[in-house]
Amino acid sequence: MVLMSGADWRLAMPTALWLIAYVIFLRYFVPWMRDLSKNSSERHSAVMGRVVDSYANILTVKLFSRASDEDAYVRKAIDEHTEAIAQHMRLITKFTTALAVLNALLLVGTSAIGVLLWGKGELDAGTVAMAVPLAWTIANTAGWVSWEMGRAFENIGVVQEGMETIAVPHAINDTVTARNLDIARVRGEIRIERLTFTYGRDDGRKVLDSLNCVIRPGERVGLVGSSGAGKSTLINLLLRFYEIETGRILIDGQDIREVTQESLRRAIGVVAQDTSLLHRSIAENIAYGSPGASQAQIEFAAQRAQAHEFIMRQRDWKGSVGYEAQVGERGVKLSAGQRQRIAIARVVLKNSPILVLDEATSALDSEVELAIQDQLLGLMEGKTVIAIAHRLSTIACLDRLLVLNEGRITEGTHDELLRLGGQYAMLWRHQSGGFL
Ligand code: ATP
Repeated sequence: MVLMSGADWRLAMPTALWLIAYVIFLRYFVPWMRDLSKNSSERHSAVMGRVVDSYANILTVKLFSRASDEDAYVRKAIDEHTEAIAQHMRLITKFTTALAVLNALLLVGTSAIGVLLWGKGELDAGTVAMAVPLAWTIANTAGWVSWEMGRAFENIGVVQEGMETIAVPHAINDTVTARNLDIARVRGEIRIERLTFTYGRDDGRKVLDSLNCVIRPGERVGLVGSSGAGKSTLINLLLRFYEIETGRILIDGQDIREVTQESLRRAIGVVAQDTSLLHRSIAENIAYGSPGASQAQIEFAAQRAQAHEFIMRQRDWKGSVGYEAQVGERGVKLSAGQRQRIAIARVVLKNSPILVLDEATSALDSEVELAIQDQLLGLMEGKTVIAIAHRLSTIACLDRLLVLNEGRITEGTHDELLRLGGQYAMLWRHQSGGFL
């Protein structure tokens, strides 16, 4: 514009008008492109989500003969994605067409005014010969700039969609003053004080209602309660997977909210109901909680969990055998009982001062369970243990039982609770026919 208006201000007029139109053009198209790009990215995530959901639940899909419905469900998402992409493409076509028209007008306008002024003798041919290629260069550069800006904003749309999923603030954070729980010094006293928890519900139903309880160091307690009584909730609160709403839990006098989550979980060994393994070798899975463990330590832990024999018989698709055999995604190449024994071996190796056994032997047959019970008793030696089992016979022998019912705890030994005749006695009566 400076060069053109230096020759004649009228020669710069098309460029000035073009510049105004160009800014309006960008303001109009670029946010629109960003929104459509975000939309098509969301549709893409929906397709992936539905495909992964179907595959993750493939057994349920097959068992209920719903494969064709699942196809239709995924197809619907694909159609929506295709439509979102089509909308996006249509906008890109509008964008390039509008830009081409704008640039053509600039070229035609500059050439027409240049030729007109030259015809009148007000401009020399050299200036016109400079102005037209200059307009052409501006048009080309503007095309490139707007294209790159469009692409940048498209990517901003994709990033925004991703951020909505991954940039959710952490619900549970370590406090600034949080210290590490010194595992070597943990004696294992667990003190629960006025613990109330509702999962954030405001309908008045409390999963745990003002619980008070002390588990002494080295004590082995069984946690009993009907399904949905809140046993897993209590364990999850102890592990700080949820933030306590009212009350507190202390380990050796330290509020669990004042120690780092990592050190807290390092102090607690958990064998969960449903064990899923990592897609790695058996040895790596057993050593997961104790990086740096030697092969001898891994094998010793496996022997204590009655897992050594079946591990020695393992062979994977690559020909690796024994402890080096891969277990498949989530451990699919092993049976539920074998996975559970690997989970037990993992905890044996981790050797934490507090042990949580949540239905730890539920997937084992009676013979293996009996063999493991002995090992578990050895494993429990000197540790604070909380064991959950629906088969009451497996925990009746522990030092004390905590019965959870409607958010409250009743404590006692097996005999005391039977004499009391409450919830535990009822559960025991129901089971003693079938399970003992
Ligand atoms: P089970 O023996 O069947 O495993 P449980 O005693 O371990 O049962 P919990 O899993 O602790 O029971 O569940 C206690 C109650 O809390 C149930 O009524 C359940 O619906 C509710 N609950 C569990 N998890 C959540 C959650 N993430 N959000 C909301 N409510 C939940």
